[in-house]
Amino acid sequence: MDNYFIDNNSEELNQSDQQIFDDITEKFVTRRKSLLNDELELVRTGFANGVAEGFPLSNEEKEEMIDKAELAFGEFLDALKCDWRDDPNSMETPRRVAKAYVNDLWAGRYTAITPITSFPSDGYDGIIIERDIPLTSMCSHHHQVIGGLVHIGYIAGEGGQVIGLSKLNRIVELFGRRGAIQEQLTTAIHNAVDKVCDDNKGVIVTIVATHNCVSCRGVKHQGASMVTTKASGAFRDNNNLARKEFFDSINIS
Ligand SMILES: [Zn+2]
Repeated sequence: MDNYFIDNNSEELNQSDQQIFDDITEKFVTRRKSLLNDELELVRTGFANGVAEGFPLSNEEKEEMIDKAELAFGEFLDALKCDWRDDPNSMETPRRVAKAYVNDLWAGRYTAITPITSFPSDGYDGIIIERDIPLTSMCSHHHQVIGGLVHIGYIAGEGGQVIGLSKLNRIVELFGRRGAIQEQLTTAIHNAVDKVCDDNKGVIVTIVATHNCVSCRGVKHQGASMVTTKASGAFRDNNNLARKEFFDSINIS
């Protein structure tokens, strides 16, 4: 099974790995799916939790965006009566903030991830779980950090597809690195896994996250976390064994 998780894009494949990979691709049909597919997007282009108009942006377009956002953030600080131009700690802050949004915090709105590769399940019929995937996101309402963990489980169908393990992390990055509403983010990740793994018997995604907009502003409650779950197929009904095995495995504390 491990051989099915060789990353087709990796430059680190040694020769024997490459031979194994070639044998597998020759023996089976492998397919590549791009997550640029519109059907994976749940909200309108341009929304904070959607992709930007013209997605994916070129490097030049991103540089132009950073220049514009830098100027605008300087004005934002002016409105707050912050003398950022003369403060050695703040004079570069408008550019730092603009770059952080475009390259990191909202990267999923501007930059595509590598194509997702899936492979035949080859008779494996157990649950596949990746737990504790780190999540860094930002709430669309307050632009405060959301931090937590994503747990993903699915069951491939007979003759169905398994997905390269690190690609689950990349799906989390694609949808997490944007504005987010945790409920919608949970659904977006679930639907992406569901689409990539054709004929699966079920997909389940649980996110456990803390929201700085709860801990640092408004009610200011530290330590409260939000748990959301989107499940389909074999995981859908309460009290079924697949759902129990998943929650036993992720051991939410
Ligand atoms: Zn918020």
